[in-house]
Amino acid sequence: MSKIKMNIPLVEIDGDEMTRIIWKMIKDILIEPYVELKSEYYDLGLENRDKTDDQVTIDSAMAIKKYGVGVKCATITPNAQRVEEYKLKKMWKSPNGTIRALLDGTVFRAPIIAQSIKPFVKTWEKPIVIARHAYGDVYKDVEFHATSAGKAELVFTSESGEVSRQTIHDFDGPGIILGMHNTDDSIKSFARACFNYALDQKIDLWFSTKDTISKIYDHRFKDIFAEIFENEYKDKFEANNIEYFYTLIDDVVARIVRSEGGMLWACKNYDGDVMSDMVASAFGSLAMMTSVLVSPDGKFEYEAAHGTVTRHYYKHLKGEETSTNSMATIFAWTGALKKRGELDGINELVEFAEKLEKASIDTIEKGIMTKDLAQLSEVEEKKIVNTEDFLKEIRKNFDN
Ligand code: NAP
Ligand code: MG
Repeated sequence: MSKIKMNIPLVEIDGDEMTRIIWKMIKDILIEPYVELKSEYYDLGLENRDKTDDQVTIDSAMAIKKYGVGVKCATITPNAQRVEEYKLKKMWKSPNGTIRALLDGTVFRAPIIAQSIKPFVKTWEKPIVIARHAYGDVYKDVEFHATSAGKAELVFTSESGEVSRQTIHDFDGPGIILGMHNTDDSIKSFARACFNYALDQKIDLWFSTKDTISKIYDHRFKDIFAEIFENEYKDKFEANNIEYFYTLIDDVVARIVRSEGGMLWACKNYDGDVMSDMVASAFGSLAMMTSVLVSPDGKFEYEAAHGTVTRHYYKHLKGEETSTNSMATIFAWTGALKKRGELDGINELVEFAEKLEKASIDTIEKGIMTKDLAQLSEVEEKKIVNTEDFLKEIRKNFDN
């Protein structure tokens, strides 16, 4: 059988630790035997980020802007301990943060559902997809530690020189201050990304903020969503029999837990960060969560939602057996290949990606899985396999 050919390269962004090991195995065992992979490779392993003064991260984001589709391996976000461990020149920023800031956009996180894996929340029957606004708020804030008494003010100088000034707080002792922002443009593109995703998947859209407390900041998000919905999407939603629904974040949290799932839940940046880990864990495992960043101009970056699985990597280095679940990383690859196929009109590539996803889920449903899923699976006869054997089992399924 001849391999599937590609026209335009996929931006391939390699990473760290156990996920870097899995990355190569997935390519060797599941992709390159079938696809003549055309990729432009960026090594975001921490050593190379340090060597290039993090230029490689910026270059990888620019390549996604150029080619339109990227797939990214998990990467270490350095902290003090990592600076020591890798003898880094400095504490480089989070690569995901850098890439998101350059591409703007919204991150969609959806659980991978296998029938035999039961969510902790019994009523959840359909996936809950989280849309996380990937720009601004606390991720691009300015913070200040006031070490003495004093006055904190919020000052805005307009283009034409008018000054608006408000007191934040009169401190009578030390304290802390935070200034954050967002832009109408970014919120508008977040709103459109969510409405488009809901239409594409034909699922309801729920949006939540805390506008009763944040009467200007969060309220602006609510108003922009309402205006765009009214003017651009209302008819399309009605035609597709789906709903847009706004409510307070506390109300959504309570409703989500009692729901059967099946909706897109749009969250501000911080809410999305926290809630996506909660939803992923409640569905069973972080290793069963996919993630895609969609930019306002239609560029896509696919990745797994989990980190570099450090604990397993140290075992691997000691020559011990590991049982790391590669599902989310496989789905990052299939998501990216499928999108490349759709954009370039290569049907075989789309079909290959879909068949590989099915073979992966079938493997778990047949009872063959890594250790993390074993406690969650309701299959009677389970076979727990190591990292590499799981991929080989998927390949057997794929070939059958
Ligand atoms: P993590 O890598 O997600 O792992 C936390 C724990 O979750 C693991 O120790 C493991 O539990 C379980 N786990 C996660 N993924 C798994 C998988 N695929 N298969 C099986 N078990 C899995 O989070 P972390 O340990 O907090 O962070 C490690 C590094 O990843 C950090 O340096 C962090 O900066 C980075 N990180 C990167 C990204 C990203 O690039 N997107 C995201 C988050 C974190 P057991 O040990 O109990 O088996
Ligand atoms: Mg997080």
